[in-house]
Amino acid sequence: MIMRLMLLGFLVFSLAFQGAVAATSECEECKTIVDLLQFEWGEKKTEECVMEIAVFICETFHIEDNDVCNFIISDFSDEFMYVISKILVTPHQLCGLLMKNNCGDFVDPLATIWNMTIPGNQPAYVPKQIVPAGNPTLRALHLTDLHVDMFYTPGMEAQCDTPQCCRPQDMNVEIVENYQSAVKEPAGPWGNVGSCDTPYWLLTNMLQHIANTAGQLDYVMVSGDLVSHTVWAYTPETHSFMVRNLSDTIRSYFPNTPVYFAVGNHEGVPVDNIAPHFTPKKYHMDWLYKTMSDSWKGWIPEDQEKTLEYNGCYMKKIYDGLRMISLNNVYGDRINFWLYINQTDPDGTLQWLINQLQDAENAGDKVHIVAHIPGSDSEALEGYALNYYKIINRFTNTVVGQFFGHTHSEQFYMMYSNPDDYKSTPNNVVYSAPSVTPYSDFFPAYRIYTIDGVHSGSTYQVIDYEEWYFNLTSNNANPTNVKWEQLYKSANAEYGLKGQTPDEYNQMIERMKTNDDLFNRYYENRYRRTIYDGRAPCSDQQCRNGYLCDARQFHQTNQLCTDLEGGMIKPKDSKKKYSARFVTSQEKRRGKEECKI
Ligand SMILES: [Zn+2]
Repeated sequence: MIMRLMLLGFLVFSLAFQGAVAATSECEECKTIVDLLQFEWGEKKTEECVMEIAVFICETFHIEDNDVCNFIISDFSDEFMYVISKILVTPHQLCGLLMKNNCGDFVDPLATIWNMTIPGNQPAYVPKQIVPAGNPTLRALHLTDLHVDMFYTPGMEAQCDTPQCCRPQDMNVEIVENYQSAVKEPAGPWGNVGSCDTPYWLLTNMLQHIANTAGQLDYVMVSGDLVSHTVWAYTPETHSFMVRNLSDTIRSYFPNTPVYFAVGNHEGVPVDNIAPHFTPKKYHMDWLYKTMSDSWKGWIPEDQEKTLEYNGCYMKKIYDGLRMISLNNVYGDRINFWLYINQTDPDGTLQWLINQLQDAENAGDKVHIVAHIPGSDSEALEGYALNYYKIINRFTNTVVGQFFGHTHSEQFYMMYSNPDDYKSTPNNVVYSAPSVTPYSDFFPAYRIYTIDGVHSGSTYQVIDYEEWYFNLTSNNANPTNVKWEQLYKSANAEYGLKGQTPDEYNQMIERMKTNDDLFNRYYENRYRRTIYDGRAPCSDQQCRNGYLCDARQFHQTNQLCTDLEGGMIKPKDSKKKYSARFVTSQEKRRGKEECKI
């Protein structure tokens, strides 16, 4: 089979280079390959061989930045085939899907913009003011991106060639006794920056530290991503185990404190894939949502369990005048392949959000939202992000807090009354909290907000927050006496803010243009690492502009950054792409000989 494909490939290119085939572009070459393979396999077998054709094209043209190419290489061909069979009418469209702009006859469903109906009667805009001191306050712990690896093993290779290191690479092979001799960088006792996730004992050490030192906590928010980055090994069983395990673990350290989780993209099986109800029942997410509703008993009102079990969202009136909304925004995830079939408000989560916000507005209540993926992230769909943006703008007086994660970096995002104009009114600020996992570039961290409430006239706005981190360099060097350190006691003091208002944050972006000290502080806090811990400095204008632009974008547009002169390099994370599993998965799948010629 492999030989046959290689021969065909050779044939195609030989013909192309000899000019016998009018291959004027890669697109034409792609179509020629599809025609030839289709001819080889015959019309009837084409569909079951689409996987093979797709892999062959991805390999032949070295397509690595295409989600489809990255996705089909994983072990979830069943789901992929279902989606492909729904969106491809002709085999040639496969070339359009894979070659994107280079191959015209495929309309990419993910590039479409769709519109929710936004309710009218918007009340007059009331700017968020700095909260006066002296009233009672709430304290809320925000954890995100736990990514716990139950198989983290100190001493194992930290520089492996899969997306998940610091653990046995093949669970079926017994660990060889003197494996350490060949290890380039041994995994640290408490974790490792790079392609390694959170050891379970790091999580419990953190929870114990918080329980010992934080004092009164009124509630906890966990904005998604519980499991490790071993995406090729995801199953509903392992995921359900981790939902239960981590919910119980957190509950055991804070038995009297409610915890509000949001669904992260890594909760999906396959990763990022949360199947909406328009798919066949066997793909539905009942197993995940049911496990969540069982594991989160007591934290979620009983009358919300039905919603949670349907689409992973819920609302709870947590104080007089404050509602917590947990929004599952993996329904707006670009790598959620089910959305290739239809991305228009899958399972009605955004309509549900509108209804919830309208209800809160009618009651005069304020709303906090806990969710996972920020709208400007490369994994966010622009159609979903823009609708979310417009909904929040409509209810901007009601929504006073948004608590996200996913990026692993700690950062903030501005929202403007015109989503495409940074000179329009800044009316909201979205927090992306620091991850617990060190995965890619970070030291583990957590955040505690001080929030205005509960008293008559509570604004429920964030007043300030503090942040704590775990220095992996010094703690791994002194593993029997580890400590969590305060990164800063007050975000307001750290950044010279008078309060946590959109205006203050918008001005902070302006100040960071010229204030090196302020920018560097923001930059290093984002990673919880200084240049002394191996973080490269961001010293030129292009690098700085990338971070400033990032803070203005809560959806994908460069119109918000036209004043940033001198060019721009957007911050990149060093998360490994799923394609790192290419060879192994491919060999495994081809071994099944699904496509016999
Ligand atoms: Zn995530």
